[in-house]
Amino acid sequence: MKLAAIPLHEVELAIEPHRVPELSFVIPAFNEEENIAETIRRVDEEALTLVRSYEIIVVDDGSSDTTFERAKMMAADTPLRVLRLSRNFGKEQAIMAGLEASTGESVVILDADLQEPLHHVATMLKHRSEGFEVVYTVRAHREDEPRLKRLFTHVFYKMLNLGSEAEIPADARDFRLLDRRVVDALCSLPERNRFMKGLYGWVGFRSMSIPIELEQRAGGKSKFGFRGLMKLGLTGMTSFTNWPLRVWTLIGMGVAVLSILYGIYIAAKTMIFGIDVPGWSTLAVALFLLGGVQLISIGVLGEYLARVFIEVKGRPGFIVAETHSQKKS
Ligand code: UDP
Ligand code: MG
Repeated sequence: MKLAAIPLHEVELAIEPHRVPELSFVIPAFNEEENIAETIRRVDEEALTLVRSYEIIVVDDGSSDTTFERAKMMAADTPLRVLRLSRNFGKEQAIMAGLEASTGESVVILDADLQEPLHHVATMLKHRSEGFEVVYTVRAHREDEPRLKRLFTHVFYKMLNLGSEAEIPADARDFRLLDRRVVDALCSLPERNRFMKGLYGWVGFRSMSIPIELEQRAGGKSKFGFRGLMKLGLTGMTSFTNWPLRVWTLIGMGVAVLSILYGIYIAAKTMIFGIDVPGWSTLAVALFLLGGVQLISIGVLGEYLARVFIEVKGRPGFIVAETHSQKKS
């Protein structure tokens, strides 16, 4: 072997294994026993063709099935770490747990249900080498979703972006590559109410998007029903906008001005035409309408206040119950 011909740093690399893997995969999983082993196997297979060193981090988000055990079994021959959260903290927190545990120079976040084609990771790495620090995927279309859901999503992102300082792209997925600097920035944010799609945008960095087509879920059911999405939506709205708090000032001023005008009109009418039939229906409607509007505004206040309360309590966003990793050889 002609050792002298090999540059010194490459010799060192060959002798000493990488301490820091080139790539970390973060996979949040909640009741994914049907998919998790296959997902790990495929990620492992893909990673081997892409980088010299990698680690896979599965975060079991308090599953009630055998997700954790099945993932653990894969650790024998895969550079894998499995974190078990002490209960279900939600996907956003599971992602954070994974990001905090990751050590790679870049991190790829992906779902455990194989909906996102893995061959895009190669494209992400290509853009990374061109200098992009965030490479995120966007859904090429949402034709597989019901019309009503598409409409809701559209309106939600319009409202979200009304007050937000950094644009939050509507169809972006969590499936993305983040440079270590971005991961560190995300981990340094102190907030507990986390809406990851907003935070990715908020931290900034050079970003690039690639359109993807989603596959069908490999097995099991989607974990996001109407309630889950509403909850996530509220977290997003309250952490990235404050116009819902302020809009009541405008509404109040509008109502006040209209009331004054209406008062002047009634006074003038009474002076010119004399006393009219008492307008009790107008009164009743105005009363109920304003009562409703006031309750809504208090509700909005409450929503923001509840988040402030959570932040003030300062509880951690998630608790790691145990970690299982590959035995060091
Ligand atoms: N997930 C999670 N915690 C939850 C809900 C979901 O970690 O409370 C994970 C889930 O296991 C999957 C990913 O988040 O890996 C996306 O969930 P899902 O496929 O159900 O969402 P959809 O693709 O339908 O939007
Ligand atoms: Mg899915």
